[in-house]
Amino acid sequence: MLVVMQSHATDEQVRSVCDKIESLGLKAHPIPGAGRTAIGITGNNGAVDLGILESLPGVVECIPVTKPYKLVSLDVKSDPTIVRIPTPSGDVLVGGEHLAMTAGPCAVETEEQCLAIAQQLKPTGVRLFRGGAYKPRTSPYSFQGLGLPGLKILAQVRKHYGFGIVTEAIDNESLDLVEEWADVIQIGARNMQNFSLLKRAGRAKKPVLLKRGMSATLDEFLMAAEYVMSEGNYKRHALRTRRPHLLRFFPQHPRPGRRARRKKRSHLPILVDPSHGTGKRHKVLPLSRAAVAVGCDGLLVEVHHQPEKALSDGMQSILPTEFAELLSEIKQIAQVLHRRVN
Ligand code: PEP
Ligand code: MN
Repeated sequence: MLVVMQSHATDEQVRSVCDKIESLGLKAHPIPGAGRTAIGITGNNGAVDLGILESLPGVVECIPVTKPYKLVSLDVKSDPTIVRIPTPSGDVLVGGEHLAMTAGPCAVETEEQCLAIAQQLKPTGVRLFRGGAYKPRTSPYSFQGLGLPGLKILAQVRKHYGFGIVTEAIDNESLDLVEEWADVIQIGARNMQNFSLLKRAGRAKKPVLLKRGMSATLDEFLMAAEYVMSEGNYKRHALRTRRPHLLRFFPQHPRPGRRARRKKRSHLPILVDPSHGTGKRHKVLPLSRAAVAVGCDGLLVEVHHQPEKALSDGMQSILPTEFAELLSEIKQIAQVLHRRVN
C-alpha cells in the first residue's frame, strides 16, 4: 500500500499520516521524491482501511501495490534515488546524473599491497576503493581474507589517500565491524538471500551495496533489496550486478533538452561489476563501456598492481594504468549521456 501526499503537503501532515499508520500496527516509510512524498506501508497482511488514510489532510490518494517488492519500486518513487557516500574527500554521489566508479583489489592481502594500489589509483581521480577483508570463497582452502586486520588496512588507505571504502560483510559479526570501519557495506552474491543479514544491513547507518546472487532472478534481486529497504535504509543503498545480461534492463529514454533517465523497475542506482561479470581481464574494458552506454550508475572494477601474484581473482584484475584508460573512456561516454563521473 502506498499513500501519495500532495506536492505541497507539510512535514507535519506527512508525520501525522505516519503516526496514523503506526497506530494501526503497521510500518510507515516516508520517501521524499522530486515532486512529492509517498509513504509506503509494510506489515499489512490483509487490506488496510483506505478511508481512514485518504481523509487525512495532505493526502491525495492511497494505491494498493500488488508487487512483492514495494519500497524499491517505481510506484513508490518515480525519480532516481541518489545515494550519498561521505568520504574524507567530500561526498560521492551515485544515481541520477552521477556515475560512481570504484576500484581496488579483490582481497586485502597486505598493507603494502593496498597502499601500493591506492597510490597508483589516486592520480586517476577514482574516489571509492574496494577490497575484501572477508572473502566468501567457494573452496574452504582458498584465502578467506584477513578479517579485522584487513579492515584496519583499508582504514589506512582512507587516511592516506582520502578514498571512501567499499568492503563486504559476510555475517552479522563482520557487518558490525564493516559498519564501524568502512563507508559502504557490500553484501555479496552468495549472501543475497541471507535474510537476517539483509535485515541487519538495513538497520546500518551506512549505504549498502547489494550484489545480485549467481542464479537469482530480477524479482528475487529486488525482493532482497526490499528486505534492506524495509528496515529503514532508504536513500542508502544501491544494487550491483555481475551479470552482463542484466544490461538489458537499463533502457535510456533521454528527452530533448532534459536529462531524464528511467529504469523500468526500480529507482535505486544500479552498478555493474565487469570483473566478476566476465572473469577475464581483456573483457573488463568492453563490458565497462557497454554498461555505461546503456545507463548503469557506476562500475566496480578489480585492480591489482601485480595481478599475477594476487591471492584471488588475479585473472580478472586489471593494472592501475589500464584502469586509468578505462576511466578516461568512461568519462567520454558519460559526457555524451550528460552524466558526470565521480
Ligand atoms: C567481490 O566483490 O570480490 C566478490 C566476492 O564478489 P561476489 O559476491 O560476486 O563473489
Ligand atoms: Mn573478486
